[in-house]
Order: sequence, then structure tokens, then C-alpha cells
Amino acid sequence: MSISLTINGKQTKVKEGTTILVAAAELGFDIPTFCYDPSLELYGGCRICVVEVEGARNLVASCTTPVSNGMVVHTESEKVVEARRNILRLLLANHPNDCLTCQKAGSCKLQEYAYKYVVNFQDHDGERHNYAIEDKNPYIVRDMNKCILCGKCVRSCSQVSERRVLTFANRGIATKVVTSFDIPYEDSSCVHCYRCVTVCPVGALMDKRALGTGRSWDIETKTITCAFCDNGCNFEVGMRGKKVVYVTAKSPDKGRPLCLKGKLGNELKYLDDPKKPYIKKDGKFVESTWSEALELNEIVEKIISLEKR
Ligand code: SF4
Ligand code: SF4
Ligand code: SF4
Repeated sequence: MSISLTINGKQTKVKEGTTILVAAAELGFDIPTFCYDPSLELYGGCRICVVEVEGARNLVASCTTPVSNGMVVHTESEKVVEARRNILRLLLANHPNDCLTCQKAGSCKLQEYAYKYVVNFQDHDGERHNYAIEDKNPYIVRDMNKCILCGKCVRSCSQVSERRVLTFANRGIATKVVTSFDIPYEDSSCVHCYRCVTVCPVGALMDKRALGTGRSWDIETKTITCAFCDNGCNFEVGMRGKKVVYVTAKSPDKGRPLCLKGKLGNELKYLDDPKKPYIKKDGKFVESTWSEALELNEIVEKIISLEKR
């Protein structure tokens, strides 16, 4: 059954069960999101996607609200914009003012929406965290001072990667994404598949091997398909001028897990100046050779067996 509704004055018909967010996107209206990911179960946690529905008492989260017949929706009304600005003010109130040096600048959703809705760091000064940056493992840098608690990494690791490495701990201002017992990634059951990194909307989780390779606006990117197994995952190849400076995992459209072997294999294949691979031996990362690292195919085998279930 199809449902008729009006969004920003445009009439449309969509399938029953479609959310307002998806219906709006089909009409070309881009609603901001932090926690939404089509690969994951609906969550509706960050509220930045709120819209105004005529006749409704409150603004509604467009990512979880299904359309209904005759609905009239406004995605950028005064009330909506003010609500989004308030959310952004609260997020920036305890966010480090690091955009000048942050590797995520230029592709960060928080930065993009703060610019769009004209919210700056001085609007509201709140308590900031002082978590130690976790960068001891060779692959992923975690800066929880920049985390906006959207939960995409937690949900991706459990719902898609089926690894359940991450969870939320504590409450209120002390809420934090942690591994079990809050141990570093390298000591946890994390397999450094990079899926959490690909979904993080801010600079809280970054590919360590791509750090310092250039600002996003100086890098030209292309998407390549991994040929190391039949899954065909996508990777982003970053080029500065003619030099390939990084190869990093891309968030898969179909919600597929990723793997470290694909990342390393494609680094070796595409990078002009590949960094050494590291593998875990007796629970510790040690520098390895490419032939040894790429022999480690158990991760890929596990992923394939998960896909076939
Ligand atoms: S995560 Fe985004 S908003 Fe935060 S410092 Fe980095 S670029 Fe700026
Ligand atoms: S790298 Fe992969 S396994 Fe490790 S926490 Fe992130 S999603 Fe989970
Ligand atoms: S680390 Fe990134 S993906 Fe995870 S909750 Fe924080 S902001 Fe969201």
C-alpha cells in the first residue's frame, strides 16, 4: 500500500512503513543525522533529525517515525532549526575545540552541521573530558573526548560485525563508549576490522595509518573493490597529487563486516610507500612481514562463515 504525504510543500507517495527520513531523502531533502545508519536497527538516539509534523504536539525523530496518509512535514522550519541548534550547542559544550588540527575536519558531521546551523564553540561552555587518547595499537586511534555518543560504533560492532567488543559505560556526563572493563582496543577481543571507524561521524575513531596524510580537501579519493575474498568490500584510496597516501575501509552499503586482511592487502597493493603490517602474537602487536600478515586468513574465513548463516 502506498502512502501520500507532503514534505516541504512537495507531494509524494511512498511505500507503507517508509520513515520520514527516507521519504524526504527520496524527494532530495537532506535531513541531518548522527546515529542513523541504514545497516543498523533503528535507534533514534541523537535527535538531530527531528522534523515538524503538522498536528503533532512535539517534533518527531524522522529516522524512526513512519509516514502516514495526509501527513504534512516540515524539515527546516524555525522550530526544527532551533531544536537542532540546541542539540549542537549541547554537543559542542563538551567537545574539544580541535577542528584546526583534527584529521576529521572537512568530513566531520558535527563540524558540517555546526557550520550549517551557525553554532560555534563559544555559544555554551560546559564541562570537557580529559580522557587519554588511545593510540598504542598500530591501527586505530580512539579519542573519546570527541565522542558524541551516537552509539554507531557499539551497534555496528554487535549488529553487523557480531563481535560485541564495545558498550556504553557510566551515566550522564561520564557516559563513555568502552571495551569490556575499559581496556585498550589492543588488549580486547577487537580484530581491528575498522567497521567502527567507518561509521563514526566525528574524529573520535580514526584510521591511525591515514593520520597526517593531508587535509580532506587536499586529497582526491577513489573507491576500489577488494579482491581478497568474494565479499567485494569497498576501500577508499586517498591520493595527494599523484601519490597514493592512504587506503582505508569504507562503510559497506549492505552492512557487511570488514576485515584487517583486506585493509592490509589493499595497502600493499595501492600505497606507494606501504607502512609495515603488525599482527598479534601472544596478545601483543608486533611488526610483521607482508607475507606473514597476509597469510592470516582466519579473519576472512570467519567473516565468510558469518555471511553464510
Ligand atoms: S571531531 Fe569534528 S568537530 Fe570535533 S574537533 Fe574534529 S573536526 Fe572538529
Ligand atoms: S575494529 Fe571491528 S571488532 Fe574492533 S571494535 Fe571496531 S567494529 Fe568491533
Ligand atoms: S566513538 Fe564515534 S561512533 Fe562511537 S559513539 Fe562516539 S561518536 Fe559515535
